[in-house]
Amino acid sequence: MILDHHPFDLNEAGHLAIGGLDSTVLAEKYGTPLYVYDVSVIRENCRAFIGTFQELGISAQVAYASKAFSSIAMLQVIKQEGLSLDVVSQGELYTALEAGFPADKIHMHGNNKSVDELEMAIEHDIGCIVIDNFHEIELIRHILERKNKQMNVLLRVSPGIEPDTHDYIVTGNEDSKFGFNLADGQADDAFLELQHNNLIHFKGLHSHIGSQLFDTEEMLLAAKILFRKLADWHEKYGYTPEVLNLGGGFGIRYTREDKPLDYSEHVKKLSAVVQEQAAYFNLPIPEIWIEPGRAIAGNAGLTLYTVGSIKEIPGVRHYVSVDGGMTDNIRPALYNAKYEGILANKAAAPVRDTVSIAGKCCESGDMLMWDLPVPVIESNDILAVFSTGAYGYSMANHYNRFPKAAVVFVENGEDQAVVKRETYHDVVKNDISYE
Ligand SMILES: *Cc1c(COP(=O)(O)O)cnc(C)c1O
Repeated sequence: MILDHHPFDLNEAGHLAIGGLDSTVLAEKYGTPLYVYDVSVIRENCRAFIGTFQELGISAQVAYASKAFSSIAMLQVIKQEGLSLDVVSQGELYTALEAGFPADKIHMHGNNKSVDELEMAIEHDIGCIVIDNFHEIELIRHILERKNKQMNVLLRVSPGIEPDTHDYIVTGNEDSKFGFNLADGQADDAFLELQHNNLIHFKGLHSHIGSQLFDTEEMLLAAKILFRKLADWHEKYGYTPEVLNLGGGFGIRYTREDKPLDYSEHVKKLSAVVQEQAAYFNLPIPEIWIEPGRAIAGNAGLTLYTVGSIKEIPGVRHYVSVDGGMTDNIRPALYNAKYEGILANKAAAPVRDTVSIAGKCCESGDMLMWDLPVPVIESNDILAVFSTGAYGYSMANHYNRFPKAAVVFVENGEDQAVVKRETYHDVVKNDISYE
């Protein structure tokens, strides 16, 4: 049963329910395509990480990687749950500040941060900047001197690991655009530059080795590699790290083939290795920082679509087109991401057919799912696609001039729009006439 893999239920009418509400009623009320989140699932995910650290008595920060899904309402929930926040741009930082997120719990990432982005971060005294490259050290140094301010920083390093996941989201290997390489001495040069600067507080190392990781092994290996470097600096220069940031990438269940580890298990294993390494090198235990994105937002959200045209190619394939596609979920077209779905209005009906779900953009690559088992499918059925809560809305685009879909939050039996559906006026609002 597909619903065994996703945190949603069937209701008495045989419809898909989300947070106790009938998804077909939500589709009717708000229109489709529609992103719907069960806020209680977001909260559970947050608590699995942060609560486990608390139970273990380990000092830690869990920073939600807001690129997965950033909106004011989302960041308000994240703030309520006591997480920290990662931003990678001025737009994400602006959203966080508009949401009232405490600046000292915001961390800024990016492999090409602009002067404007860094100035905004420094002006608002955010908690930490994760420095990616030598150019950025220079920019930060100038801004801090000019403004006579100070800033906490981590250095992002690439430990040279190639996790077993999709090639496009491997980032911790040596041939990567992100971070200082450990192997060739870049990280040592950066460390020495920071040691000579009293406006920059170098708190420790960061690595993010990739995404959709199902076990903790590669992350544990990265932790060990980072520790070896920190111990080396401790021995040579008397440096004591305060923070070890191991990044995000905790895998989630998109389809039944995905078998991610429990988040609390990840946290226990990471904590054990950090304690063991600190003891081995005779260093104080650093604060552990992690940065889950999809693991917080992914399985809490789904997308509802209305079925339109159906094309049967006998003996070949049934194409079923829906009223969205690569404009609201570009991941299948971008990196062949796999999803599961269900007919929300026929969620209890027996499977009768196998169909492939097409988007409505003018691209053959605009497919959402291949070979989805479904009951008898007809126009106007409501299709729900699961686990679209991360990198769905946040990667939405205006291709073919489709307005962006709305986002609805459901909690305690109530629904509330948290991002309005765009109008056609929104679509043309930046166009300037030329006549
Ligand atoms: C993308 C990213 C994350 C989050 O990745 P998920 O797979 O969504 O958990 C965390 N940290 C950094 C530096 C990232 O680039």
